[in-house]
Amino acid sequence: MRIMNKEEKLQNLRHSLAHLLAAAVLELYPDAKRTIGPAIDDGFYYDFDFSSSVSDKDLPKIEKKMKEILKSWKEFANEEKSAKEAKDYFNKNEYKKELIEEIIGKGEKITFYTCGKFTDLCRGGHVDNPAKEIKPDSFKLDRVAGAYWRGDEKNKMLTRIYGLAFATKKELDAYLAQREEAEKRDHKKLGRELDLFLFSDLVGSGLALWTPKGTILRNLLDDFVWELRKKRDYMKVEIPHITKKELYEKSGHWDKFKNELFRITTREGHEFAMKPMNCPHHIQIFDRKQWSYRELPQRYANSTTCYRDEQTGELSGLSRVRSFTQDDAHVFLRMSQIKEEFLKIWDIVQEFYKPFGFTMRVRLSVHDPAQADKYLGDKELWKKAESALREIVESKKIDWFEGIGEAAFYGPKLDFMAKDALNREWQVATIQIDMNMPERFDLFCINEKGEKERIVMLHAAIMGSIDRFLSVLIEHTAGAFPFWLSPVQVKVIPVRTSHNKYAQEIFELLKENNIRAELDDGDSNLGGKVRDAKNNKLPYWIVIGDKEIEAKKITLESRDQGQIGQISPEELLQKFLDEVKNKK
Ligand SMILES: [Zn+2]
Ligand SMILES: [Zn+2]
Repeated sequence: MRIMNKEEKLQNLRHSLAHLLAAAVLELYPDAKRTIGPAIDDGFYYDFDFSSSVSDKDLPKIEKKMKEILKSWKEFANEEKSAKEAKDYFNKNEYKKELIEEIIGKGEKITFYTCGKFTDLCRGGHVDNPAKEIKPDSFKLDRVAGAYWRGDEKNKMLTRIYGLAFATKKELDAYLAQREEAEKRDHKKLGRELDLFLFSDLVGSGLALWTPKGTILRNLLDDFVWELRKKRDYMKVEIPHITKKELYEKSGHWDKFKNELFRITTREGHEFAMKPMNCPHHIQIFDRKQWSYRELPQRYANSTTCYRDEQTGELSGLSRVRSFTQDDAHVFLRMSQIKEEFLKIWDIVQEFYKPFGFTMRVRLSVHDPAQADKYLGDKELWKKAESALREIVESKKIDWFEGIGEAAFYGPKLDFMAKDALNREWQVATIQIDMNMPERFDLFCINEKGEKERIVMLHAAIMGSIDRFLSVLIEHTAGAFPFWLSPVQVKVIPVRTSHNKYAQEIFELLKENNIRAELDDGDSNLGGKVRDAKNNKLPYWIVIGDKEIEAKKITLESRDQGQIGQISPEELLQKFLDEVKNKK
């Protein structure tokens, strides 16, 4: 017998449960037509065509039936069937008949698997003895959803029942707890609760609107990236958000983004498009004059919005939108400068991500030699570029791995992956070498010998999309932003109205020193004011009462450390300014 690895075993367990689900459904709903039931990442599903409607509230009943049947499932037996036998067996099920036709068309064998009293058309991949190997408390029916037959909206809408399944109850519970935590941290929910961003039906879906608080977050993040870039001699540029068709024909984007381009026809009949990316515009800025090798690299930075006509069904919070702002940068340089320049950008990435406490690893994305024709440009150049990148990752003390075939068609790249507080991994920054655009736009410099030398270009967004980065950051921090980034950093709370004057003084002191403070001098009680600070996840709040006024001090409380105690206004200010400076 073949030895299976853990993943394969789990896969088989999940797929066996799909059979069990279908068996239970058919006992309870004999008219239902079953279609397909695969294993998925966290469990399994099965799609049915029910004659009556089935919803989430029916799941406990079905799950109970599954557990009952499971006891009698001791073995999966398989049998090969002729085309006629198979079609006769499923003569009232047009879905299975369609699948059988397909198997026949491919010239493959038709196999039926039977366990207990239930038989299904199947390719195999089950546990040997479900009753023994599947623990009844390690799976759970999850939810009901609609799904078109074969994923095609022209077909009938079926009912999909999802189940969760793991090897043990402990793993199932851990998964449920993590999912619950993820729901609490959902950026769409927190964005509303913390008043950061919104979507408006009148503006349209996938087009986020940012409130004053959300805008503070965006600007602070963008300023941080700029601070790091400025030290490395980047220059800001600015570009319009639309362009003539011709620019994208030349860059290749007209073809590549065909369906995702927002197109505009002017009253004179000219075709324009909203920009889906910024590179071709920046190239026009670079191309305004002839460059000597001494003047390279030229580094252009530009935080600017891009537009892509994503399908409505694909849109999701801030992760998938129709307009997003990139903290974009392009560096125009000689091939021989790649390593040094990459290291500079890498430093920016590391300095930027450090204060957030993500665990980072790097993927060196190289070309797939088996599909050489997929990539543009000279083989020698690819070799040079990839070995330069390999040297760079090897010189860094960081967890890295190679992604063969993950390169862009125009050049290799480094992708930075960040693991968040829930252990989920997100691709964040990428640094890409582009050998294609300089070719298309004939970009060169004059080298030491006075000859034209083809240059290369780097795409180097640090956050990528600020919107998407914020969706990751909101979930990573659960909306409890670090002090330097919090839209409101501290709330000043006078206990009674008689304390308002001193509270006002403290508030003014903080404001003068650019601390984002709020004064809560309303007439609600202390408990209510503190609760409000906590609900808004403010890093600090200050309480001022008789004792504080008498001692010329304030009482400081922290979201993360609890009671800090009485300190003088000078100490408070110093503490806050230090925390901003050190990005705590
Ligand atoms: Zn099966
Ligand atoms: Zn670019």
